[in-house]
Amino acid sequence: MESNLRRALVQNEFILHYQPLVNLETGLIIGVEALIRWLHPELGVIMPDRFIHVAEETGLINPIGDWVLCEACRQAQAWCDEGLPPVFMAVNVAPVQFRQSGFIEVVAGALATSGLEPGRLELELTERTVMHDADINMGTLSALHRMGVELSLDDFGTGYSSLAYLKRFPVGKLKIDRSFVNDLETDPDDWAIASTIVSMGRSLRMTVLAEGVEKPEQLTLLRKMGCDMAQGYLFSRPVSAEGMADMLRRQPFV
Ligand code: C2E
Ligand code: CA
Ligand code: CA
Ligand code: CA
Repeated sequence: MESNLRRALVQNEFILHYQPLVNLETGLIIGVEALIRWLHPELGVIMPDRFIHVAEETGLINPIGDWVLCEACRQAQAWCDEGLPPVFMAVNVAPVQFRQSGFIEVVAGALATSGLEPGRLELELTERTVMHDADINMGTLSALHRMGVELSLDDFGTGYSSLAYLKRFPVGKLKIDRSFVNDLETDPDDWAIASTIVSMGRSLRMTVLAEGVEKPEQLTLLRKMGCDMAQGYLFSRPVSAEGMADMLRRQPFV
């Protein structure tokens, strides 16, 4: 697997798909999340859950993650240059990648090369990434924030977050993990967790996004809670860059 991943990197076998992030007030796509896929010459499409952990264990996540950042920024700016409605680009950052020395320079480089405004890039970090050595990470988070890059907490609710740190960290968005949204309409506990996250996020003046929205009933409940944004198969599965551009083209300008 490791040598296959190395070859994949050299031979450009990775691609990014994009999934819309929807503003629940306007119904418009205001952001997209970049999601990696591996187009294996013999095995076909390999999903990230099957190779990201190997990439993390071998350290290959650093060059792979750097490629993702550059490619996602390039694509966001290319859409902008085509005159498509402006969206922000959300990029997943693995814990190892976040902690590598020079990560800030990698982000700065991706922005400079692509010409993308820093405010149009959002880095998705998990609670585990951020809370591990919270004091050390604070420095990196602050530096990214000073650059103008947006930060969000991914899979929120599955890790552990110290509420004190949540307040201190320059994180602007909470992404409610899919596991709390799956049975939102039938499980009162999931409903309670989701609505608690929404009200906490609001109190801390953060944007709250619900992941994995598949059913209209879930969307209705999330709207009632005051959730700001949503993502899920109800709107669209992750699609190719061309597919995403078509979706944006069909969307009215704000
Ligand atoms: P994630 O960051 O939580 O990304 C969301 C995942 O949920 C994506 O799976 C997406 O396709 C899936 N999803 C979105 N809406 C729905 C829905 O309505 N129902 C269901 N059942 N699933 C939905 P994907 O693309 O397979 O990615 C899986 C994970 O792999 C991601 O979870 C993320 O942790 C990781 N990953 C993906 N791309 C990258 C990357 O470029 N870098 C790093 N470090 N990790 C990545
Ligand atoms: Ca994510
Ligand atoms: Ca997530
Ligand atoms: Ca997840």
